[in-house]
Amino acid sequence: MKIIRDSPKQVYIGKVKSHVGIVGNEEADEIAVAVAKGKEEEKENMEGVTEYGKDSNDRDSMYWPAEVKQLYRTEKDEATGEFRQVPSRKRYKPLQDLKADTHALSSNKRKLGQANRDTIRFEAWDRLAAIRHKATQHFVAAKQVKSRVRLTAMKYRTGCLFNRKLAYMFKMAQSPKCVLCGQVDGGHHIASGCPKHVKMYTDRHNKAVRMIIKSICQGRQGGCLVMADAGRKEKCQQDEIPYLPRTIPMEALPEDIPVEVKRVLTTKSRPDAFLHRQVKTGFASYSEYIILEVKYCRDTDPCPQLDRAEHQHKELADAIQAAEPTACVKYLPVLLGVAGTVYTIHTTDHLEEVGIVGAALKRLANSLNEHAVKSLHWIYTAKRKQEKPLLPARETGGWKRRKLS
Ligand SMILES: [Zn+2]
Repeated sequence: MKIIRDSPKQVYIGKVKSHVGIVGNEEADEIAVAVAKGKEEEKENMEGVTEYGKDSNDRDSMYWPAEVKQLYRTEKDEATGEFRQVPSRKRYKPLQDLKADTHALSSNKRKLGQANRDTIRFEAWDRLAAIRHKATQHFVAAKQVKSRVRLTAMKYRTGCLFNRKLAYMFKMAQSPKCVLCGQVDGGHHIASGCPKHVKMYTDRHNKAVRMIIKSICQGRQGGCLVMADAGRKEKCQQDEIPYLPRTIPMEALPEDIPVEVKRVLTTKSRPDAFLHRQVKTGFASYSEYIILEVKYCRDTDPCPQLDRAEHQHKELADAIQAAEPTACVKYLPVLLGVAGTVYTIHTTDHLEEVGIVGAALKRLANSLNEHAVKSLHWIYTAKRKQEKPLLPARETGGWKRRKLS
């Protein structure tokens, strides 16, 4: 990462086919083989890389279960006849004062503020400047969130949620692939990528939409809501929200659009919510149309989902604008991180536009965070349960399981 960042030229990373005669790739192969065989002169070529590896956060000293004491035994040297001390075994002494002892035993790299920040994960979270920090971290102290749920979310955020890809890297599984669908497993695959869990992802999404709809109804733009695609009628009744049409009613669209076009538009575009109102300013008055689309995204990388949301209803927004040039058409994607990230520019700013402000916005942001975290735990545990009967007996455990021989 450091080498790439410090490079004066733009560096692109691409995947290339191996063993087809690409010069750079063949060279890299040769270096790798030579180093694996222990050739000294080739080692020099790798110096920069290995040096860099040493600076990284070492995982070995992450836990201090006990103080280690090296024991020695006395041995007689056959040649000289002298006695000498030889290290025998290590004795572990439990820590007496966890806080003070951990502080004393931890290496400098582990102390608060001393850890190496030059890592991909740190960079990814650090780059996300536009998030609502309080709402994003709400689940950490929330009473309604159980500690198991919290743990799952923390594991996901730090990249150590048990999955087959990680297990394979640590030689605890025979394949990195998801046993349910055959794609490569991983944290994000669990949270929103596995085709076998689409129903759970939809339920999570619909519940989030219902929460937002409820807040809109309680806000000052509640009367402008003309449609909402928030799941089945019973669910809406359970959550005490009005059951609105699940497609845009034709009369809500500008009169200048022909009926056939309206029919096509409303069947093609089904946003999560659609608001229409007349805005009066002094002597003038204009229509305002708001298209709301809720999407769950990868916490550290909201851009792909943002792009997708923007293209999804572009045709509808353009058609309304073309038919009624004086109208104000707002297209607001609402993005939520799968591990509870609440953004400002992609989430709360857009919620403010539909009349959710102040304390109500804060409450909604917190409950959306809780909902995301709970759903993540729910999806993760469901996946593990479904996987279990399909895996070989030795691979069914989590991190506690011993390595495969
Ligand atoms: Zn899968």
